[in-house]
Parts: sequence; C-alpha cells; structure tokens
Amino acid sequence: MTISSRADIPAARRIVVKVGSSSISGENAGKIQPLVEALAAAHGRGTEVVLVSSGAIATGMPYLRLAERPSDLATQQAAAAVGQNVLIYRYQEALRPFAIVAGQVLLTAGDLENATPRSNARRAMERLLGLRILPIVNENDTVATHEIRFGDNDRLAALVAQLIGADALVLLSDIECLYTRPPDEPGAEPIRRVRHGDDLSRYAFGSVVVNSVGTGGAATKVSAARVATASGVGVLVTSADLVDAALRGEDIGTWFDPHPDPVGTAAGPVTAPVPRTGADTLGR
Ligand code: GLU
Repeated sequence: MTISSRADIPAARRIVVKVGSSSISGENAGKIQPLVEALAAAHGRGTEVVLVSSGAIATGMPYLRLAERPSDLATQQAAAAVGQNVLIYRYQEALRPFAIVAGQVLLTAGDLENATPRSNARRAMERLLGLRILPIVNENDTVATHEIRFGDNDRLAALVAQLIGADALVLLSDIECLYTRPPDEPGAEPIRRVRHGDDLSRYAFGSVVVNSVGTGGAATKVSAARVATASGVGVLVTSADLVDAALRGEDIGTWFDPHPDPVGTAAGPVTAPVPRTGADTLGR
C-alpha cells in the first residue's frame, strides 16, 4: 500500500527503521531497550519490521580499549568486527521478553546495486520476514566502507527499503526534525513536510558530520530520503527518542512524500541514477 503521510505509518505492511551509532552505543546503550519495545509493539500490530542499525564500530571501541573513534580504516573495520556481534547480542537480549528472534544481515550498498547479490539478499529477507524474524541490517564493514565514511547507514537503509518494497522508512537521528539551517543557527525553521519536486537547494543541511562515534547528519538523511522516495517509499526523519510515537503515526518529524510514479521497484535493480552524497533536491 502507499503510505502518503506520517499518519498512515501504523497501517504500513512493511517498514524499515534505521538507527545511528550515537543513539544506541556508549552512554546511550541503554536506549536499545526502548527502541526494541517500540519495534516489538509495531511487530505485535502485525507490521513487518526491519531494523538497520549502525553502531558496530562504536560498540567495539571499548573492547579494543579505544577512547575515541579510530581514524584509520583498518582499525575502524576491526572495531566493527568486534562490536557487531556484541550489538546483535544486545538486541537479541532486548527482544527476548517479546519472544522475537533477530536475524543478522550484513550487506553492502554494492550488493544491492548488482542483480545477483541483490536477488539473493531479497530472497533471504523475504524468508526472514515470512518467518516473523526481525532482520537487523548493518553494512558489512570488513568488505565495504561506504557507510563508515559517508552516512552511518542512511543510504544503506534507503536501498534496503527499496529492495524489499517497504511502505515506509523511518530514519532516526538525534533531532526531532530537519531544519532549514543547522538548528543552532539563527533563522533555522523546522521542515515538516517535503513534497515531491520541492527544491531543497536553498536549505543548508551542512556536510557529512563525523562525531566521536559515527558519521551522518542532515545531508545524508536528505540524500537517503531522495533514494527511498524515488522508489515510492515515504520517509520520516525524527529523533530516536520518538520512535514509538513515529511508529504510531503521531505528528512529529520531517515527512518526505513518496514519488507518485516510482522507479527502481523491489522487482529489479535500481534503474535511476542514485546519488551517493549531497542531494539537494527531490526533483528528477
Ligand atoms: N557500519 C558502521 C557501524 O555500524 C557504520 C557507522 C559509522 O560510520 O560508524 O559502526
């Protein structure tokens, strides 16, 4: 079904929720529980839920005795290898009271742009969802580093939503909604709705943010929203703390309308050019 507004999110048959590193690691590791409770509630309402979670590097850092995010790629990959299984363990423990089983899916954006791995990934995801398992997706960091460098899985989440024909994508962040300028700057106004074709080039979303645990920021959210909406997937950007309200269709966050005439359906590879970074308009 087409989810044309945030209020329709509870009616979605299939939904992808993406959470970033800083929301579920370090001092926020305790926020895995409320996140999982919101996902379990949606699962209990009959929605098929896929979680795209970053946080492997950030979760692995203490095990490598790293106080800060490593700057070199090899150590980032090592931290991700150590942190990924701890992260999945934490999710599974949080899901246990709800009798929900998690399935780990490690993908690269490249996998989803090539026919054979794309079709393999789609078949596996379909079976997992058919078995009422909750797939938890991350970038396969030992072989791919796009999301480490640009975007903390925002783009991967959009490609996954496209792959499985999700009805909606919820991108969780640390701010309630997107703003016309960085929210600490004077004149920043909240953006509540982005219609297809709206010109966003006048807004200053900033560049890719690299903080102590992950990467991302408003620019990669907008870029990911552009990919997802082009395939007919409506996108909500809001705060991780508001995930339950988001999944209940409350009037929060920034909603991106799905494209009325989508391309790149779940049935085949993406045919439209897919921007890697820095999208500034939703027009095609
Ligand atoms: N796949 C990486 C992770 O889960 C990406 C996020 C990042 O940039 O730290 O840690």
